[in-house]
Amino acid sequence: MDYLLTEDQTMIRDLCHQIAEERIKPVAAQYDESGEFAWDIVKVLAEADIFGVSIPEAYSGMGGGVFEMALVTEQLSWGCGGIALSFGGTGLGAFPILLFGNEEQKQQYLPPIARGEKLAAFAITEADAGSDAAGIRTTATKDRDHYVLNGTKQWITNGGEAEIYTVIALTDRAKGPRGASAFVVEKGTPGLKFGKKENKLGIRSSATCEVIFEEVRVPKENLLAREGMGFVVALKTFDHARPGVAAQAVGIAQRALDEATQYARQRKQFGHPISSFQGIQFMLADMAIAVEASRALVYAAARMIDAGAKNVAKPSAISKTFASDACVKVTLDAIQIFGGYGYMKEYPVEKLLRDSKITQIYEGSNEIQRNVIAANLIKESSRA
Ligand SMILES: Cc1cc2nc3c(=O)[nH]c(=O)nc-3n(C[C@H](O)[C@H](O)[C@H](O)COP(=O)(O)OP(=O)(O)OC[C@H]3O[C@@H](n4cnc5c(N)ncnc54)[C@H](O)[C@@H]3O)c2cc1C
Repeated sequence: MDYLLTEDQTMIRDLCHQIAEERIKPVAAQYDESGEFAWDIVKVLAEADIFGVSIPEAYSGMGGGVFEMALVTEQLSWGCGGIALSFGGTGLGAFPILLFGNEEQKQQYLPPIARGEKLAAFAITEADAGSDAAGIRTTATKDRDHYVLNGTKQWITNGGEAEIYTVIALTDRAKGPRGASAFVVEKGTPGLKFGKKENKLGIRSSATCEVIFEEVRVPKENLLAREGMGFVVALKTFDHARPGVAAQAVGIAQRALDEATQYARQRKQFGHPISSFQGIQFMLADMAIAVEASRALVYAAARMIDAGAKNVAKPSAISKTFASDACVKVTLDAIQIFGGYGYMKEYPVEKLLRDSKITQIYEGSNEIQRNVIAANLIKESSRA
């Protein structure tokens, strides 16, 4: 399928595929096994200016948008869905600053992110507040020209490794969802601590960590937007970031399709390559349809966002839900095509299935995405 990429977009895609092929793929299994954070790959990405693709040139970036971010994420995820998340998690952490930061905040925080000198993270989830984000308990209490943060965030991607955290905390408990605000908190601020690093099913080389705030004082200049806008910041951030999760799913699924096609050509049973059996051919064809349909949805949603479309919540949720569901199915089918070998860790496809599952869960589970899609459908229909 020709997506009519510009010269710059083609260059970004090809460069990231080359990095995935030559640098990430050879070490992916080792990082998956150890669960270590792949700092050596982060360095490679930084040297290639990849962290700046979606940051405006005025802040040392390349001036791309959500589309370029999706291209990068897709290709890096083809190499390893976990390692790719050092990039994806940084994008998630940077979006609130990009979308809601004032000029000073952008000048301060975006250039080191664009240069890959500092990773970012976004922290909203807590032990008792996942899908129901309005249930967060972390507080930010105003104390003259500072806010004092207390609470614990859970399962934060890039937690402990990132230098810049955008955090949603309650500035006014009594106001419920209208009482939350967004802050930038830098690693090294006294009282900011990191708890347990999670031992996960998949995306094992990504850091998923508790982020703990104990009397963390941040200057009032670190407030993003205005007091009370925390959930607006979070919702807009997710609307912009979800095509990134969808792109991660496309990259993982494409890799599964590539591996399965190659294997089917080589593996012989009954005196013939299994690729000559119609049962296998149909499975490969269905996988290809699912991957391409996912990619088309991701690119369409990303382009809508970059074009400044008004309500992007529905296309963003559709791309994430479809691509992640497709990814889990495609990676499962890849294992089926590999037969018993697919079940073994010596072969790459069992990792792809493990890595795929998270795309249905994070940045809003697919059940929550279906709620968003249905709510928008009903609203649109009532206006018609
Ligand atoms: C590896 C990993 C990385 C993550 N990274 C980050 C991060 O960087 N920053 C961050 O803030 N968070 C992060 N998260 C948190 C993630 O976004 C949440 O896990 C996710 O939003 C779901 O919340 P939950 O796990 O608490 O599930 P719950 O909200 O407890 O949901 C449990 C189940 O109930 C379903 N459910 C809940 N409500 C409804 C409903 N109204 N209708 C139908 N079904 C419903 C859910 O879909 C799910 O199937 C991460 C999580 C993981 C596992």
